[in-house]
Amino acid sequence: MKYYGAIEAGGTKFVCSILADPDHYFEEVRFPTTTPEETLERTVSFFKEQQNKYELTAIGVSCFGPIDLNPSSPTYGYITTTPKIKWRYTNIVGFLKQELNLPVGFDTDVNGAALAEYKWGNPENIRNLVYYTVGTGVGGGVVIDGKPVHGLVHPEAGHILIRQNLEKDPFKGDCPYHGNCLEGLCAGPTIQARFGIPPQDLPEDHPFWPILANYLAQACIAQIYQISPQKIVLGGGVMGQKQLYPMIRKEVIRLLNGYIQHPMILEHIDQYITPPILGNRAGACGAMALAQMLEKQ
Ligand SMILES: [Zn+2]
Repeated sequence: MKYYGAIEAGGTKFVCSILADPDHYFEEVRFPTTTPEETLERTVSFFKEQQNKYELTAIGVSCFGPIDLNPSSPTYGYITTTPKIKWRYTNIVGFLKQELNLPVGFDTDVNGAALAEYKWGNPENIRNLVYYTVGTGVGGGVVIDGKPVHGLVHPEAGHILIRQNLEKDPFKGDCPYHGNCLEGLCAGPTIQARFGIPPQDLPEDHPFWPILANYLAQACIAQIYQISPQKIVLGGGVMGQKQLYPMIRKEVIRLLNGYIQHPMILEHIDQYITPPILGNRAGACGAMALAQMLEKQ
């Protein structure tokens, strides 16, 4: 059995674990994301301790962003222009390699999750998919032909612009860069800001949910037109409100208005827009998938 270290490096918490495959999950530790020094020190000491027990093949980091993924860039493996000021230009990959002496796979948290769903949540053997997470932030990852998409940087699908329902939802949006972009309107903290309670406490039949479903449907449609994914996976804490799935599917069909004629949309939309098959393992499995990518290269 091969063991991999998985680091889910999130803006609010870090989760470090040891896995062999999605069904073999060994150790796990979670701690809040504080300063880079303290957080990375805790990460390294966890893995150093585990290395006495498990012979690790590689480490994968699925990271909050933006991050530098260009291997020929002098800042490859860094977190770059994040709104979390202390973390700007943190050399996360360099530090882990130096301290743990292991190969380190690195990508955005959502590209990691998209890759994990592609590898282990894909009984249909589709070739491309989009993964959106709607939680503390909103992010979108894209996998095409088994590879996470990188370009100039990486997809930033959480910051696309959508049409806001200003009449029913005059909230100004809280993205520090764009105000009312997708994340600025749909992330969990925006629900807290609007109603004073976290998303999990907003009643299932609250009139805001159809508005949010419309926003997320607009995001799905942008992806459908642009990437033409064979599947759209929606995960993250806000999607714990399960009534959103049928609302979003219905809204996608309404907004497409018959323009895309495909059985996956017209007949099987419940298999087309889905929760992650890996459920709450998507994060850790994403990081493991990034570690495993190194073996192919
Ligand atoms: Zn934004």
